[in-house]
Amino acid sequence: SFYFLAGQQSGIHAQPPFDLNKVRADFPILQQQVNGHPLIWLDNAATTQKPRQVIDRISQFYETENSNIHRAAHELAARATDAYEGARKKVQGFLNAASVNEIVFVRGSTEAINLVAQSWGDQHLKAGDEIIVSHLEHHANIVPWQQLAAKKGLVLRVIPADDDGQVILEEYAKLLSPKTKLVSFTQVSNALGTVTPATKITAMAHAIGAKVLIDGAQAVSHKRVNVQELDCDWYVFSGHKVFGPTGIGVLYGKEALLNEMQPWQGGGNMIREVTFEHTTYQQAPARFEAGTGNIADAVGLGAAIDYVSAIGLELIDQYEHNLLHYATGLLKQVKGLRLIGTAADKAGVLSFVLEGFKTEEVGAWLNKQGIAVRSGHHCAQPILRRFGVESTVRPSLALYNTCADVDTLVQALQQIH
Ligand code: PLP
Repeated sequence: SFYFLAGQQSGIHAQPPFDLNKVRADFPILQQQVNGHPLIWLDNAATTQKPRQVIDRISQFYETENSNIHRAAHELAARATDAYEGARKKVQGFLNAASVNEIVFVRGSTEAINLVAQSWGDQHLKAGDEIIVSHLEHHANIVPWQQLAAKKGLVLRVIPADDDGQVILEEYAKLLSPKTKLVSFTQVSNALGTVTPATKITAMAHAIGAKVLIDGAQAVSHKRVNVQELDCDWYVFSGHKVFGPTGIGVLYGKEALLNEMQPWQGGGNMIREVTFEHTTYQQAPARFEAGTGNIADAVGLGAAIDYVSAIGLELIDQYEHNLLHYATGLLKQVKGLRLIGTAADKAGVLSFVLEGFKTEEVGAWLNKQGIAVRSGHHCAQPILRRFGVESTVRPSLALYNTCADVDTLVQALQQIH
């Protein structure tokens, strides 16, 4: 089938620099009708759809390789271990980490942040120490620090955002002090799409000796990430937001730092030797992978990384940038629509409210026409309140979306009146 790639409404063309028809054909879920209309998936910031290559790779694992890893001498254990460690190697390349030992498999971004809070944070932070987050954070990068702060008497400080939804660096500079032990912030806001100046924020934190954690949950599907260039101490992301399975994600950490962090959960795999008197631990990453992990989905994540890498993150970034620009222009023309999040550097997300309609009403209206968007607080209540709203409608883009998708969305919004 042929998809109209050129925008119908404004004549702007966002010609994809890769074979978009082929990409769309790779995603079985996009072929279906919802409520009598072709599905238009614009809820990518919540989760992305999975290409056939990922689905098939997981099936192949269960059909031909399934075993627990590292433990047995038999053939399938060797296959499963190779597949799992092969996926770790793919993640290393994807993030440009210096060593494969810097890649810890976890359940997702939320678990990765909790791991750092409960291991490094619990070990190193003491009463009066300060943690800085930004106003843009997802609850996953607020609550674990708040819990730690309550337990240890820490102070949580917040980098304010300006009226466009970008962090204010001058205000951030004022928050930094010798008391600052950690700066933890998002690279891309899930509620507004803002791309934060991550390299700069990191360098400023390091200049006063603080550690840096970057939440990459919304970044990895849109941009090429290079943790060595960012120079962050930790970087976290979730597989399901980059066309991989749910229940698998990554904690990247600098190798020396991971090895001096106390283990988080105890159990099998993470130990070197156990007696009733004393246990010694493995080095990273095994140190943080207690128990049987999500082996098949790690392998699926490896396939997702192969998938986006074959298309090229630079090309994906370029195409989505054009699509975002196209969508922004058209949405601005919808009567009564207020866009929230107008930073110069944005990725993937459009957030808005429509005068005269509740956000749930807009979401339900779009759903009737097969268009999936999120209406709600997007697990980022503080930043929405910064703009005086409790909820927005949030279409969010991925590499398989088209100008035609945007046209259908905009037409539906015009018809709601
Ligand atoms: N951080 C950001 C910026 C997010 O958008 C999300 C998910 O929406 C998370 C963290 C949490 O990710 P997960 O639910 O996969 O752990």
